[in-house]
Amino acid sequence: MNETESKNFIESMIDKDLAEGVYTTVHTRFPPEPNGYLHIGHAKSILLNYGLAKKYHGKFNMRFDDTNPTKEDIEFVESIKEDTLWLGADWEDRLFFASDYFGQMYEAAVKLIRKGKAYVSDLSAEQIKEYRGSFTEPGKEDPGRERSVEENLQLFENMKEGKYADGEKVLRARIDMASPNINMRDPVIYRVARMTHHNTGDTWCIYPMYDFAHPIEDAIEGITHSICTMEFEDHRPLYDWVVRELEYPNPPRQIEFAKLYLKNVVTGKRYIKKLVQTGIVDGWDDPRLVSVAALRRRGFTPESIKMFVEMCGVAKANSITDYAALEYCIREDLKAKAPRYMAVLDPVKLVIDNYPEGQTELLEGVNNPENEALGKREIPFCRELYIEREDFMEVPPKKYFRMFPGNEVRLMNAYFVTCTGCVKDEDGNITEIHCTYDPASRGGNSPDGRKVKGTIHWVAAETAISAEARLYENLIDEDTANEKGAIYGEDGELYLNPASLTVKQCFLEPAFAGAAAYDRFQFVRQGFFCVDPKDSTAEQLVFNRTVSLKSSFVLPKES
Ligand code: ATP
Ligand code: MG
Repeated sequence: MNETESKNFIESMIDKDLAEGVYTTVHTRFPPEPNGYLHIGHAKSILLNYGLAKKYHGKFNMRFDDTNPTKEDIEFVESIKEDTLWLGADWEDRLFFASDYFGQMYEAAVKLIRKGKAYVSDLSAEQIKEYRGSFTEPGKEDPGRERSVEENLQLFENMKEGKYADGEKVLRARIDMASPNINMRDPVIYRVARMTHHNTGDTWCIYPMYDFAHPIEDAIEGITHSICTMEFEDHRPLYDWVVRELEYPNPPRQIEFAKLYLKNVVTGKRYIKKLVQTGIVDGWDDPRLVSVAALRRRGFTPESIKMFVEMCGVAKANSITDYAALEYCIREDLKAKAPRYMAVLDPVKLVIDNYPEGQTELLEGVNNPENEALGKREIPFCRELYIEREDFMEVPPKKYFRMFPGNEVRLMNAYFVTCTGCVKDEDGNITEIHCTYDPASRGGNSPDGRKVKGTIHWVAAETAISAEARLYENLIDEDTANEKGAIYGEDGELYLNPASLTVKQCFLEPAFAGAAAYDRFQFVRQGFFCVDPKDSTAEQLVFNRTVSLKSSFVLPKES
């Protein structure tokens, strides 16, 4: 590693651990609960854990934290795997399921009982809550606390054997009912619950609680640095207690960092579920969402997401990031990668009156001036073209340099043309614009040094490909959200932006022919677009606008 490179606080902790010989290697994991799709916040966790393993030449585990059968779904396991690999975090042969350790977790609980560190409780969930005390008052001791080891072993076995109803008995860690940390007041570590597990079926009718299971999973896999988010900070003493009492050699260390939050963006599963159910979005991968699948469908690249999470940094303090930062990253990534072709989103016909009828010619276009490797293409040109409706004005305001009667502009890659007027229908809508061209300006080059201020894009009508373009804005009405300081009101309803999706029938130059799912392009002057993987067909291409070219984002100064 470069000596002058600045390190985040986790890297500093790892360096210290390695220097002091606490660990000789770095072993991280990503432990998703398979209860939903991954979102941009998970992407941060994945790239952080994977990145650390790579940087320190260590190992990275993918582990499904599937200890809570009610919430899990096998569909989510597959989507999580796909999204994680797409982000580039390859776990190779290191794929694990926490449920594979149920036997070891049971043995661990027995070990605690034998040490007098766990006991079976007859209290109901409500009583346990009541006995727990508060921040200001110590808890009350559970009558089960003084049971003998033998009795506890028997009762715990009975729990496993299904002799009790759900919730009738629990196993509690015997720690300290007066601890100032409520998590340490004899937390429940096992419960009776008859649930069919996607992996272990009906083998178990007792399931471990997260705070007990997670450190065991880490320890079994030899994880060194167990990275999680801040809400687990108060649970760390319990994490340490579990690995210490279970006497794991070289136990893992838990390190917390702040979650990634995007301003005015919906990430809550409850909200997304409702948006899907009410048909406001077309699934968990709707391009307006920030699930990894949605970002991929919208046209984001793994590189842009990596750049974004690195830009956000790793910290202990919560902060809220603007979506504009994510847009900045994808523009940066695609600017040299994506070919730049012409597409007209809001077409109106342009007729070149002095161009011979029936004639076509092929002009040349550079595919990306910032990347020579993308080469050149031929662009057909003819008498009738399409241009953007907004590139013409009958009565232009000041500083309008595009088409208006009497003005000369450059048709990108083609010719200088001078506008002569327009044709309107009965309702006053412009149906056609007319112009003449200067044959000496072929290629868009000035024949005599005269300058034109405007350059507009176009598509030849005869060879145009008709396609659908979907333009997106934030799902949330940002003005209202900013004013109220929240994305939803007191009634729990999201402040929705009615204009979050606009569908356009557009015309493309022939270079787009054959575009396949996920192919990315720049529509010159319009933005970056990606072929929609769900709805696009060879007959009717469908494009999602990933991001427009305009940016209000200012790159934060290097600190
Ligand atoms: P959510 O409720 O948003 O789905 P979660 O924490 O319940 O999040 P898990 O599947 O339990 O989701 O989390 C897997 C890993 O991802 C955990 O290590 C968790 O800390 C991390 N993680 C979840 N949300 C974020 C976030 N917004 N930023 C960074 N890491 C996150
Ligand atoms: Mg969770």
